[in-house]
Amino acid sequence: MIKKNFLTGEYVIYSLDRANRPQSIKKNTLKTPIEICPFCIENEHMTSNPIYTSFNKEIRIIDNKYPIIDINREKYGIHYVLIDTKEHQKNIVDYTDEHMYYLIKSMKDILNILEKDEKLEYVQIFKNKGANAGASQSHSHWQILALSMLPNRQKYMLDTLKEYEKDNGRCYFCSMDYTDNLVCENNEFLAFCPDDSLYCYEINIIPKKHITNIKYLDDYMLNELGSILKKCLIKLNLVYNDLDYNISVQNGFRAKYEYHFFIQIIPRMGYLGGFEFSTGMFVNSVLPKDAAKRLRKI
Ligand SMILES: [Zn+2]
Ligand SMILES: [Zn+2]
Repeated sequence: MIKKNFLTGEYVIYSLDRANRPQSIKKNTLKTPIEICPFCIENEHMTSNPIYTSFNKEIRIIDNKYPIIDINREKYGIHYVLIDTKEHQKNIVDYTDEHMYYLIKSMKDILNILEKDEKLEYVQIFKNKGANAGASQSHSHWQILALSMLPNRQKYMLDTLKEYEKDNGRCYFCSMDYTDNLVCENNEFLAFCPDDSLYCYEINIIPKKHITNIKYLDDYMLNELGSILKKCLIKLNLVYNDLDYNISVQNGFRAKYEYHFFIQIIPRMGYLGGFEFSTGMFVNSVLPKDAAKRLRKI
């Protein structure tokens, strides 16, 4: 079965016996020695002064020492690292609810800070967890990439969502029936496996109300978002122990790009190969409804 992903226009082939291939999941082997880890609080001197700190320095945002973009290039940009714990071994699934609240709040705060820079058009907040997901440090962290341009994928997504609303009179996310794809929910957010997921066990988290930017979340909602994000990661870890994954915050930065915001959790099982890179088509070995059902029961 082949589907077209609504939000990106990319094709995904559901090939359900692929999961049974031997060694279909590579283990995470990334382990930075604690003595040379720049993100440990004891090694604070190895990095520049934080731009932002909160929760007694558990959360720190610093300049990326190796930025992929900078203020002197033809395309202007800012590249920060968000270190979300002082402790080398600590994993998000072990954070307290208060810790999760401050993590999400730091995203809201940095978006508000970056908004003042008129040259910026888009900010991508993301997390690479493990070598399969592109991380080069094992100490938990996120990255914040602020750009003077809107990436193609976000432009396509926004155009598609606006077109859907024009044709149907309602927001795509607000009109969807989540029953069979639901992973979990709380008062303000729900998590689901999209029917056209490009990746096995992909989870999207969306606000139940039509909220278009993280910066509009009040304290209660920040707390709810932190708690559902942690819950989803705990569930994924129970399906695949110590899984590598990416988290991507899909949040229109400027008012003109705002739409119903969402967060994607993308498990990375190391199966992206020549076919995917050659064609831009993806292979998913688990039906999203089956993935949702399994995650829901945990
Ligand atoms: Zn460390
Ligand atoms: Zn909506």
